[in-house]
Amino acid sequence: MSHALPATTTDTTLTLDELIKRQDQYFQSGATRSYEFRHAQLQKLLQVAQKYEKAILDALAHDLRKHETESFLAEIGITYAEISDALKHLKRWMKPQRVGSPLAVWPARSHIVSEPLGRTLIISPWNYPYQLCITPLIGAIAAGNVAVIKPSELAPHTAAVLEKMINESFAPEFIHVMNGGVKLSQQLLDERWDHIFFTGSTAIGKVVAAAAAKHLTPCTLELGGKSPCLVTRNANLDVAARRIVFGKFLNAGQTCVAPDYVLVEDAIHDALIEALRREITLRFGSDPLRNEQLPRIINERHFQRLTRLIEPGKVNFGGRMDAGQLLIEPTLMTGVQVHDPVMQEEIFGPVLPIIPVKDLEHAKKYIQGFEKPLALYLFSGDKREHQNIIRSVSFGGGCINDTLMHLANPKLPFGGVGASGTGAYHGKYSFDAFSHRKAVLVNGTGLDLPVRYFPWIPSKEKILRLLLK
Ligand code: NAD
Repeated sequence: MSHALPATTTDTTLTLDELIKRQDQYFQSGATRSYEFRHAQLQKLLQVAQKYEKAILDALAHDLRKHETESFLAEIGITYAEISDALKHLKRWMKPQRVGSPLAVWPARSHIVSEPLGRTLIISPWNYPYQLCITPLIGAIAAGNVAVIKPSELAPHTAAVLEKMINESFAPEFIHVMNGGVKLSQQLLDERWDHIFFTGSTAIGKVVAAAAAKHLTPCTLELGGKSPCLVTRNANLDVAARRIVFGKFLNAGQTCVAPDYVLVEDAIHDALIEALRREITLRFGSDPLRNEQLPRIINERHFQRLTRLIEPGKVNFGGRMDAGQLLIEPTLMTGVQVHDPVMQEEIFGPVLPIIPVKDLEHAKKYIQGFEKPLALYLFSGDKREHQNIIRSVSFGGGCINDTLMHLANPKLPFGGVGASGTGAYHGKYSFDAFSHRKAVLVNGTGLDLPVRYFPWIPSKEKILRLLLK
């Protein structure tokens, strides 16, 4: 098996059929399997990402008006940390895992071998258009696969940089970016893959799952939904306000794990709103629309969608917009009912309904009226309340006394549950998401337990009953 790195090409005339054929042959050749190859490719990805860092920052500023520091924090920095983690641990991840063997299989030994799945497809959304292409790609490379990446057409500047940086640096038979819209996505989904890694909305997640089912292709589905944030009377309100405003208004609320709405105990409803207002003013100034660090809404359609969710009579704070620049200032809504438009869909914008609840039990019932969320955040200083929520409410992942930060720890699996997703990634979980865990039992040829062989006689059953309990 050769460990030689493949030659690169920027050949853009490659058809989908040719690309798939070449990736298939390349994967079948075994070239991507060795530790040396995977390690070298991850290192190369890091170098390429560093070389293109400025272009990526510029593209993110064009697509979403993200400030450089915000882009580094939530897009580029995360991918650097993920590559470093993979480079550091890859050898250990790849090592077959020895597991125990019961007496029933004596004297055999058992282990689990992680093997690459093969040809993988990564489809990404527009809200973190760089990070959500590169982070899954790290897992695909670490696990020894080949990959086709389809960035979101709604963040075209970032998509163009991704295409240039990947296709110029890597051979298409190994990893390749294909840019296009829904039509291309559908063409890609018509093909047979060994794994599909999709990040996007729950609605399109169903389209992806249906397409994958035709070929029995396994998928990781990283979806969205309405992630609640609970604030109880035992919370430190200033800290809660600071971290809710951070998690909600980063990227103008266009974050899959942003707190979608806040449930707050009646007794502290007004105090929390005061703290949130203070915090918004502190972070974005008294006229956020003039703050150049305020990210914009991705496009006209999403801007219009958000304006329909903001009922002027229910705006408690903020609510002003600049249609020309697609800006919406951080907005708090109160008096919101569960059947209001803002509670009928994932908000995915800088609009935060604050909903009073009697107590924790009331909050739990409210949350359980929706699909299982991608994230949940609880602000409380009471450990019994922490346990109560963690044990009784299902959610993909989340934080106690914080927002978003669970996704910054590669030791934690990041993913949803139920309608918010299937599977998880980050760190070793990305390697696992793109690997098949092959079970291998190795027996010798000397010893044998006769009980497993014909003919069945009463004494064998007695022994089996002793062994299998
Ligand atoms: P989307 O589902 O509209 O699009 C995602 C991708 O699917 C894009 O590449 C798009 O080209 C493709 N696509 C769109 N329509 C398609 C169709 N009919 N058939 C095949 N492919 C199609 O999502 P979006 O608007 O780009 O992103 C926002 C959503 O993504 C939100 O719901 C958000 O919560 C979710 N999200 C989830 C995560 C996560 O990690 N769980 C991260 C970011 C965003």
